[in-house]
Amino acid sequence: MNASHPQGTLFVVAAPSGAGKSTLVNALLEREPSISLSISHTTRPPRPGEAYGQHYYFVEREAFEQEVADGIFLEHAEVHGNLYGTSRRTVQELMAQGRDVLLEIDWQGAQQIRVTMPDCVSVFILPPSRVELERRLRGRASDSDEVIERRLRNSREEIAHAHEFDYIIVNDRFEDALDDLQAIVRAVRLRTPLQRARHQVLIDELLGAGP
Ligand code: GDP
Ligand code: ADP
Ligand code: 5GP
Repeated sequence: MNASHPQGTLFVVAAPSGAGKSTLVNALLEREPSISLSISHTTRPPRPGEAYGQHYYFVEREAFEQEVADGIFLEHAEVHGNLYGTSRRTVQELMAQGRDVLLEIDWQGAQQIRVTMPDCVSVFILPPSRVELERRLRGRASDSDEVIERRLRNSREEIAHAHEFDYIIVNDRFEDALDDLQAIVRAVRLRTPLQRARHQVLIDELLGAGP
């Protein structure tokens, strides 16, 4: 870290499928455009409306496994029967430029990131009830019944890891959950090591000679 250019913060956001993670993250990025969203690689087929390089880098399983062998991933995991991974280079380059980077990943990926990037800040999103989780998953109308059933079954395993995260947000009223997520980002940005690096000139001036 140097005075003009402290390294960015890595935010990790996880949730059971359908809790509203992507909707919240996209709304956060509108409020805080200086955060970069990491685009994951996945073997999952695109949903209607999803574009290569915008939502995911969609790849075949064989190509993904080769990328794992090449060590390109900062973390990777199998989720709901598909492989997902975060590119190491993109994240590290953005952070080195001082950008805050946000990963939308599952609990297994979050565990790996805590080992390699211990300064990361992790947030878990809970739905307000099981009934509402199912309603949102079905209401999204982007997955088959079979995929939805699988995601609902897997939600317990994801939620069982919520306590490993630094923060937990309940996404009941959307605007409240969004305010909570933004509050975390803003508080992290005011932490003393970052503020000291940003404001060293000010602090020196305030400590300087004079009455
Ligand atoms: P949704 O986020 O539940 O709508 O569905 P997705 O198919 O987009 O994501 C499925 C799961 O994979 C979620 O738990 C994501 O958080 C997770 N995921 C997405 N990208 C990554 C990644 O790069 N790494 C890891 N470990 N998990 C990911
Ligand atoms: P995830 O990324 O966690 O799988 P999404 O962001 O795709 O979830 O949200 C799932 C569905 O729930 C979407 O249709 C979204 O519009 C809706 N949704 C998200 N948050 C809320 C909320 N607070 N109240 C009602 N619906 C919500
Ligand atoms: P979806 O297929 O609905 O977009 O995502 C399903 C799950 O995969 C979500 O819980 C999402 O967080 C997770 N996921 C997406 N990208 C990654 C990734 O790069 N790494 C890991 N570990 N999980 C991911």
